[in-house]
Amino acid sequence: MEKFVYKFAEGNGSMRELLGGKGANLAEMTRLGMPVPNGFTVTTEACTRYYEDGERINETIEGQIFDYLNDLEETVGKKLGSLDNPLLVSVRSGARASMPGMMDTILNLGMNDEVVEVIAKKTNNPRFAYDSYRRFIQMFADVVMELNKSRFEQFIDRRKEAKGVKLDTELDVDDLKGLVEDFKTFYQHELNQPFPQDPKEQLIAAVKAVFRSWENPRAIFYRKMNDIPSSWGTAVNVQMMVFGNMGETSGTGVAFTRNPATGEKALFGEFLMNAQGEDVVAGVRTPQSIDHLKEVMPQCYDQFVSICDKLEHHYHDMQDMEFTIEEGKLYMLQTRNGKRTAAAALKIACDLVDEGLITTDQALMMVDPKQLDALLHPQFDAQELKNATVLTHGLAASPGAATGEVCFTAEEAIKRANSGHKVILVRLETSPEDIEGMHVAQGILTVRGGMTSHAAVVARGMGTCCVSGCGDITINEEALTFTVNGQTFNDGDYISLDGSTGNVYGIAIKTVPATISGDFQRFMSWADARRTLQVRTNADTPKDAAQAVQFGAQGIGLIRTEHMFFEGERIKAVREMIVSKSLAQRQKALAKLLPMQQGDFEAIYEVMQGLPVTVRYLDPPLHEFLPTSSYDIDQLAKDMGITSNELRNVITSLHEFNPMMGHRGCRLAVTYPEIAQMQTEAVIQAAINVNKRHPEYHIVPEIMIPLVGEVNELKFVKDVVVKKAEEVIARNNVTLDYKIGTMIEIPRAALLADEIAQEAEFFSFGTNDLTQMTFGFSRDDAGNFLKDYYDRKIYESDPFAHLDQKGVGKLVAMAAKLGRETRPNIKLGICGEHGGDPASIEFCHKVGLNYVSCSPYRVPIARLAAAQAAIKNEMK
Ligand code: PEP
Ligand code: MG
Repeated sequence: MEKFVYKFAEGNGSMRELLGGKGANLAEMTRLGMPVPNGFTVTTEACTRYYEDGERINETIEGQIFDYLNDLEETVGKKLGSLDNPLLVSVRSGARASMPGMMDTILNLGMNDEVVEVIAKKTNNPRFAYDSYRRFIQMFADVVMELNKSRFEQFIDRRKEAKGVKLDTELDVDDLKGLVEDFKTFYQHELNQPFPQDPKEQLIAAVKAVFRSWENPRAIFYRKMNDIPSSWGTAVNVQMMVFGNMGETSGTGVAFTRNPATGEKALFGEFLMNAQGEDVVAGVRTPQSIDHLKEVMPQCYDQFVSICDKLEHHYHDMQDMEFTIEEGKLYMLQTRNGKRTAAAALKIACDLVDEGLITTDQALMMVDPKQLDALLHPQFDAQELKNATVLTHGLAASPGAATGEVCFTAEEAIKRANSGHKVILVRLETSPEDIEGMHVAQGILTVRGGMTSHAAVVARGMGTCCVSGCGDITINEEALTFTVNGQTFNDGDYISLDGSTGNVYGIAIKTVPATISGDFQRFMSWADARRTLQVRTNADTPKDAAQAVQFGAQGIGLIRTEHMFFEGERIKAVREMIVSKSLAQRQKALAKLLPMQQGDFEAIYEVMQGLPVTVRYLDPPLHEFLPTSSYDIDQLAKDMGITSNELRNVITSLHEFNPMMGHRGCRLAVTYPEIAQMQTEAVIQAAINVNKRHPEYHIVPEIMIPLVGEVNELKFVKDVVVKKAEEVIARNNVTLDYKIGTMIEIPRAALLADEIAQEAEFFSFGTNDLTQMTFGFSRDDAGNFLKDYYDRKIYESDPFAHLDQKGVGKLVAMAAKLGRETRPNIKLGICGEHGGDPASIEFCHKVGLNYVSCSPYRVPIARLAAAQAAIKNEMK
């Protein structure tokens, strides 16, 4: 019979796919003899089956859950619902990849009206018993029955107010008994059924709820952001409860073996005495630093330190752990590789290599390429920062600098960000519902919550600047204001956050680009030594090119020449060229453009200092450059000496129903060879001029003809280019090598790549257009309906962001093979957006491309992703 449940003692750390990360690590800690409360894991396959069976737990799975429950009860000598020795359990989700705070947890399951009495007597601690019961009702109602938790909080606040106290801990047993009654009555009222008293019914309902939570909107959003397939499912861990809220010798906490913000090698964490886990994470009470545990409970502290050490040596990585102390005894509830900032990730990777715990290959594999982004993001302008006064101070939860308008809700943040505003999300504390708002915000500021609060953990993962636990702030949610140190800020006012110091400023402060150093260079040099793929950049200006070179680009894979056409006065000449009615007119306009293009190319060649530079010839449909406003039309008509009406007629005649499949790419050069001639003149003359100034550069221009679908079409344009290039070279009386290649971005070109390679010295895969044309999805419009495809699970990710390896990838692989058959040394690259996407880069490595080309800020990501692809492929 298929096995859907494993007790911790049956599993191990390598069973993450089946048991989820949490389950596998609990099993591994059990195997290592660490103090882990007993329990069992319902597998990810049970979750998949639950969905296959129409969201129901079938008899086999339910039977196995109860068998393992029996076994657990026998092992620990307690029984769910027993009035002699009741067992309480926690029910927690645990997917293969850690998804912090994304899914739901239920604690104290097994409580009911009778059990609470027994526990009160047995522990001689009725306050603890009733506190646990009210928490359970609250969590069960929230997670299983989807009754909002905050509605229960109102009952607590009312009790505190009536009593004139501030903290939950100041409520006594009678208050808590009263709360339990309030909660149950509210439950009955809202749900039309009593709070369930049968613990087995509670258990199955809780397991179902965890399975269900795999499909909640926050989990779906997190999966999309992190490329986690929905088919994985989540496991469910059922574990005997241990209690951190049993009094002053009990407590609970979370800790990292190294500082997750800086990477510093020192135990880092927080705990609260007389509390349950949710109190630490939710930020309801402000926890104490883990070092303080040494004084409060020295023995537990020593034992904990030694376990941390063992775990780090065992997993060869920084660990993030949860623990509980029940009446002086330490229990480990979780360990996982800790989330960390990008700077910390690099420091930890380098330190672990220096400590001899890992190899450089392992170090490269442990950093998520996308994380490097955070190192490359802006900091505050030093001078402006010096002159700014600190408004208040919170915890430096996630580094970076951010400036934006104050916004008090996630929905509002999304709305404003969508209309182009920069926002700072200001919240009392964040919860997983806020995730989309956090994602669009420049920075996040919270009043409550420590370094391990939801806001801190999630912001760090996203690389978003965050200041948390800023207790001086009072938020008025009704009035949409916050007050701090006598100053009031309204919705929409500008503030700035420094996530590296925890400082908050009441003004906008200029930000400057990031600087990278230290561990980054060392780490990236390991990546460079490992990768076989070259990394180039897509850059259209000398400034972007210089930035990319600083980030390690080995050349330019794509200059979109049309991007140079919009600047300043140029657009006038471009428009003149487009609306020209005769060759002579067009040549006159092109003559104006020539020096500008040539100047741009010279500047780029200077910056690139002899590194390869691929110039792509004019590509987009011409109407994109046409004037639309009456003023612009009148101006242009005047410049050209024609009437506005004449010009309007020309504009109308250039209209296309489907411009992306219309008169663009090499088709322009077929109709107007003079455009390709002008661009050739500019490219070749610029190379000659710069070679003269810097003979050591040996510039070999690479000319790229876009949107080719037929070899004769390429040959036609190529002949034009060669003729002009030779003319310019002869005129200058020099020798110059140059290459002519094409983009493979039309399916027909991929199918006939062997023929095309007869004329092309290189191919660059334009996977933006190739995706558009392979799917038949408009690049510009697909966003409108792709969402429905994700919702219906037809596609899981955006094919314009992650290469569709099955379909588009098949064309790429085929074209690479066919191209090489004709021309064995043909150079192959990719310059679509996928060139900066780690999963797509791995694909490019496997297909054997020579290089990927991506935007400057993605160059370091591509370097690391290329190294990881090489390492992974060797391991296979
Ligand atoms: C492409 O199509 O992939 C490409 C790089 O060209 P563009 O995005 O300019 O069409
Ligand atoms: Mg294209």
